[in-house]
Amino acid sequence: MKIYLDNAATTPLDKQVFEAMTPYYLQHFGNASSHHAFGREVKDTLDSCRKTIAQLLNASPEEIIFTSGGTEADNTAIQSAIYGAGVEHVITTKFEHHAVLHTLQQFERKGKIKISYIEHDAQGTLDLIHLESLLQQHPKSFVSVMHANNEIGNLNDIAAIGELCEKYKALFHTDTVQTIGHYVHDLQKLKVHYLAASAHKFHGPKGVGFLYCRKGTPLTQLLHGGGQEAKLRAGTENIAGIVGLTKALQLAYADLNQHQLYIQSLKDQLVAGLLDNISGVSFNGNSANADKSLYTVLSVCLPNTGDDLLRCLDEQGIAVSGGSACSTGAASHVLQALKLRPGRNTVRFSFSRFNTAEEIDRVVNLLSALLQPIAA
Ligand code: PLP
Repeated sequence: MKIYLDNAATTPLDKQVFEAMTPYYLQHFGNASSHHAFGREVKDTLDSCRKTIAQLLNASPEEIIFTSGGTEADNTAIQSAIYGAGVEHVITTKFEHHAVLHTLQQFERKGKIKISYIEHDAQGTLDLIHLESLLQQHPKSFVSVMHANNEIGNLNDIAAIGELCEKYKALFHTDTVQTIGHYVHDLQKLKVHYLAASAHKFHGPKGVGFLYCRKGTPLTQLLHGGGQEAKLRAGTENIAGIVGLTKALQLAYADLNQHQLYIQSLKDQLVAGLLDNISGVSFNGNSANADKSLYTVLSVCLPNTGDDLLRCLDEQGIAVSGGSACSTGAASHVLQALKLRPGRNTVRFSFSRFNTAEEIDRVVNLLSALLQPIAA
């Protein structure tokens, strides 16, 4: 039996999403920019997808720009703030995805911006008093803080951060790649200027996502070429992908509460199973705190047996992911920022609505057997 617990890396495509997409490969394959019937048909679908996504997020259709995924959406937001709004100071965190961190650091190396990092506690909870003092020193900054971290699952209070940004006239970008489709985002209430999303994190297809850019906020093109996306993003629209993205988001929000409760119950089951069966287990960041972490992610520090635990799990058909302030491979910048004790096995389990309680039981049993020598 194969068990997939790496849903923060990517989620399986929902069958209903696949079914919604296939006609856009086989029948409605036109180019949305073409003026004949094939093109017009696709253009109508594109407009209707944009409208649906905007409705689900309480935004306007013109504020949704389709991209190739989260990386492009993050890059576009950052570039827009620097080139479009002329921002010279950026406030961010050590926990951002490399799509944000590497992009910002590259601009800093070129001398375009100066970056300040928000302080945090040992669990990675951001110090919003420090953020406010940075904003006081540098009003009109660009603030980039992710909603939830993809490695440890820490949730950041983006509502409070948005309020602070508004108070100090800063531009606020949030990477919601791990939370769109998993939490409600009301963009009339949330004080955010840019927001990045990616379909493959909520059972949609890979290679498609969107950037939300609040009306009146500077937006500069990352890709130059044709006049697609109101001249904001060149390149023939990935219509099948956009249809899949839209269907996946509709399905995610249709039963959001039910999915949340179910997935949280799987996470709780794993936390309890590990605590009951493996001595010396601990959880990274706020990962095991239900109020402060993403219900789809659990980052665990396990005793080191000297074996490559991820490989052992892989051999048993269990797909999880690592991180390694702990043992092998390149150190994760997130675990490093938490200053974790070295010499432990970090495993990230990430869940979806397609996982089952039986799968969790099997993982607990297997880990107990693998770690028995240490636990005994
Ligand atoms: N931001 C976060 C938090 C992510 O987890 C990921 C993907 O893992 C990305 C950005 C990049 O998204 P994409 O794979 O759609 O480019």
